[in-house]
This record gives sequence, structure tokens and C-alpha cells, in this order.
Amino acid sequence: MSFLFFAFIFNFSHASFAYTLKERRSFQHSIIDYRSSLNPGYEKIRRKKTKYIIVHTSELGRKMTLKVVSNGKRLRDGRRTPGGHAHYVIARNGRTYRILDNKYVADHAGLSMWNGETDISQISIGIELVGYHYAPLTQSQYRSVGMLIDILQRIYGLDDRAVLTHSQVAYGNPNRWFRKNQRGRKRCARNFIREKAGLGPTWSYDPDVRAGRLMADPQLSKIFYGRREYYAKTDDANLITQSNTAWSIAGEDYDNQTTVYKFPGGRIYTGDQISDKIGWNRIPAKTVVLLDQEGSISLIKRDDPIKTISDSLTAWSFAGQAYNLKTTIYFLPSGRIKVGSMISDWDDLPAKTKLIVGYRGPYKLDKGRSAYQTAGFKYKDRKTIYYLPPQKLLTGDQINDFKGLPKGTLIFLPNTL
Ligand SMILES: [Zn+2]
Repeated sequence: MSFLFFAFIFNFSHASFAYTLKERRSFQHSIIDYRSSLNPGYEKIRRKKTKYIIVHTSELGRKMTLKVVSNGKRLRDGRRTPGGHAHYVIARNGRTYRILDNKYVADHAGLSMWNGETDISQISIGIELVGYHYAPLTQSQYRSVGMLIDILQRIYGLDDRAVLTHSQVAYGNPNRWFRKNQRGRKRCARNFIREKAGLGPTWSYDPDVRAGRLMADPQLSKIFYGRREYYAKTDDANLITQSNTAWSIAGEDYDNQTTVYKFPGGRIYTGDQISDKIGWNRIPAKTVVLLDQEGSISLIKRDDPIKTISDSLTAWSFAGQAYNLKTTIYFLPSGRIKVGSMISDWDDLPAKTKLIVGYRGPYKLDKGRSAYQTAGFKYKDRKTIYYLPPQKLLTGDQINDFKGLPKGTLIFLPNTL
């Protein structure tokens, strides 16, 4: 904590961790050059000035984040963007990727405004942190982003007030919730805790809201300009409640076909279906909202107790904060079985890893112990999970011949206490 002491004495105007030259150099050497993966269709234009550093959360795992920022994403009208959506990507383990040279404009801020200036992409650097705006970022990410910001501040002569999150600068046109232009189009990086990145004091108000250019977003203004402890809260932040509306969770993507609403009963709707089929005021409480679900909706739809990790569905998408509990059990493609407490991060599991959430076990089947003796009358239940070595996972209702289960079969039971 000695950095705080220094910060008080010298009143540093930028990154108060004050990394040494050696630390900054070694960090710079560790940056992975990902520029060759940039979509060749992205037109590189030199940025005329650099006034801000904008922090984002990608709402995806590492693999898909790198793909989307480099190569582009699908827009709501079906067209694709040509990529170039960040200068840097920082993975959960702190590994930092260079997507685009600092000197070029990255297309990262969209419709945005700060202190009266619009089109923030033209005057800023964009850093994408792998993770969700409703889930905690890692210590390694904070260290890397702190170091990167320190380096960029020195290059461009920027103070800590120049570092903002995308959710602070984005704004939206009027919609069903607001009659005027307003903040809240993006929720990106609203969980970014500046102090953890070594950043000092910043704006205590939103200059565009104060000047009457934009309406405030109640939730974001509480997070950024209210009491500081508010924004550490990430529990259940992608669940619909009375105060956590589709708009508070998804921002402008609320009615997008890549936004998925999973109702408590298991029914699934995409954002573009809600208006006709349900109505925006009638989404039940505890509905889970998942963003950026391109091509994975059929996987979410399967209301199977055995979930499968894919490029766009991570362990966090299925388990949320429970990803690292002992009751979340992972079956890796390698054949290994791990419980959540053995996992370093939800983004470290390979695609095709299967998981079950809220289970206890394993209970081993053998001659003296049948499935019925282990699971009771629920032995044929869909929620009773059987692991058949070397790699097969089945639910109780998928098994006909319980006597033919191989040696070493394991049973997992729902953890209903
Ligand atoms: Zn963003």
C-alpha cells in the first residue's frame, strides 16, 4: 500500500502505482502482436489527437473477443462490421494483445459524447477487457490495464481524468424508456474499479448531463458519480428485477436478436421477439439476459442439466458466480473431472467442456451399490447425472440398461438441501 503514501505526498496526476521503467518495458515486451489478424477490410486512418483512454468489457471469452475485435461483428441489420474494434485486448490472465497500432483510429466507442465532444473513437484509445460487465474482472487484468494506461498516459500526456469507461461516454437516441438522448446505451465496463488499476480521482459528475445535453441513466450515474462502494456489486446483475430492466442490463442491445432472454421456466426468447410475443413490461423477474449470442441460441435452448461450453457460451454464462464452487462440476474434453474450486478462471476451460451446476458427488457404482441404492427412486430422473468412463455423460432418463453400466460409473445428484 505504499503507492498510496506516495500519491498523497507528490499528488501524482496520473497512474499512482508509478510503475518503474523496467516494469513498463517488460510489460511492453510481453504484449502479443495480434495485428496480422486484423480484418484486411478495416481502413486504417491516423488519429489526429488523443484525449481519452476508453475501457470496455467484451461480454465474451478470450477467443471470441479476439475474433470480434479483429474481424468484426454482425450488426442488427445483418451486415458485418470490418473489425478494428479496439487497440488492445486484455485476457483474464492479464495477457495483453495488440490489435491495432496506437496511431490509428479504432472503431470502439460508437455513438458517444464527452464534455461536449462527440465521436469519441476519433480522439481515443480503446482497451477491451475480456469479461462481462456484471462479473468481476481479475487482479491480473487490473495489473495489465494499469500498466498499459500508465504507458499510454506518458505517450499522450494524459491524466487520470482522461481514462473513462465506454458506459460513461456512450449515449443513445430516444427509445421506449427515454424521450431524449440519454446515457445508458452501453453498460460496458461499469464494473471497472479504477482504484484497482491504480487510477486516481476522476470526474465527479457527467459534464454532458450537467450541461443538459443528455439525460442521465439512473443506474450508471449512481455507479460512476454516486457512492463508490455501489459498483463492486456484481451479483445477479444479468437477472431481470423490478429495477434491473432489459435496458439496464443490455443497453441498446435489449431488442437485438443476439440478446437472449432465458425465462425462469426455461423458455427462451431473443431480443427481437420480446415486443411481439411477450411485451417489454411483462418479462418475468429472474429472467437471465445473455448478450452477443450469435449462433449459440440452440445450445442455450436445450434445457439439459448437462451444459456444454462453446466459443460464445462460457462457464460464466451457465454458472455465473457459482463457476468456482465445489458444486459446479466440469468434465473436460481430456477426460479429467474438476470441481469449480479447482478452476483458476471461468475463461480457462476449453470449448466442449461439459458442466453441471448445483451437484454433489461423485458416488461410485459397484457390485454392492446399484443406481437405485445411490439415487433412490430418482435414479431414472433427468436430473440424475451418470458419468460413464472414459468420457460419456448421460442423464438418468437416457439410460435403459442400468445393469449394463460400465465399471467405474459415477453418479452426481442435484444438491437439493
Ligand atoms: Zn464497449
